[in-house]
Amino acid sequence: MSSACRAAASGAPAILLLVCCSVDGGGAVQDAPAIERTRMVAEQIESRGVRDPRVLAAMRDVPRHRFVPPSLETEAYQDHPLAIGHGQTISQPYIVALMTELVRPQPTDRALEIGTGSGYQAAILSRLVSRVYTIEIVEPLARDAEQRLKTLGYENITVRAGDGYAGWPDAAPFDVIVVTAAPDHVPAPLVAQLKPGGRLVIPVGPTFAVQELRLIEKDAAGEIHTRTVAPVAFVPLRRGR
Ligand code: SAH
Repeated sequence: MSSACRAAASGAPAILLLVCCSVDGGGAVQDAPAIERTRMVAEQIESRGVRDPRVLAAMRDVPRHRFVPPSLETEAYQDHPLAIGHGQTISQPYIVALMTELVRPQPTDRALEIGTGSGYQAAILSRLVSRVYTIEIVEPLARDAEQRLKTLGYENITVRAGDGYAGWPDAAPFDVIVVTAAPDHVPAPLVAQLKPGGRLVIPVGPTFAVQELRLIEKDAAGEIHTRTVAPVAFVPLRRGR
């Protein structure tokens, strides 16, 4: 319960309860961030065509405001990316939802993410697949994300600091790979670590310019099929450590 809700429950004017809480269809009391997430999903995500009910449920559940710096918490549910330190960003909610829907996550899937950042995309994926492996090149971001995910109770995510260009050979192959930083070409090791039937979503293009979001699928025979989905703007995929 939020502090405002607690105040209302303990005798503050009843109108406060109406302002900060609502009761959902199942009878559960929703706190203010949950109400913001419901609105975020309706206005920014469903309205732009994301339909997968499991993806929409994950976007409603994961507390995005816990993944941004405290000074930006009030902006966590707005329709844009936010700075998370070290020159990096947490993606716009719609882009997270779109990329997640594109890889068609299944409950038994193993997923790899390149570019942990805040850990938000990893948390969304973790609700939809059996296990998430995520790599972040900025060591303090990797450490913070690991701690945050542990605190929030996400237990099926493994975070590693390092260059994700080479993927995670020890944990491969993957059903799903999500790359959230933009290289100027598709890293061959990532395609190699995709299972037959696997899906890889990746922004590809020049640094600090518009890139194209591509969906790359490996069919049962191992053939690669690529579709360009939308223009996007991601931070660059860096090399080295
Ligand atoms: N998915 C993140 C947002 C990612 S921003 C979230 O949900 O918050 C892109 C991230 O990719 C940045 O944190 C950046 O440091 C990281 N990154 C850039 N190049 C990388 C590389 N080669 N390997 C792993 N991470 C990389």
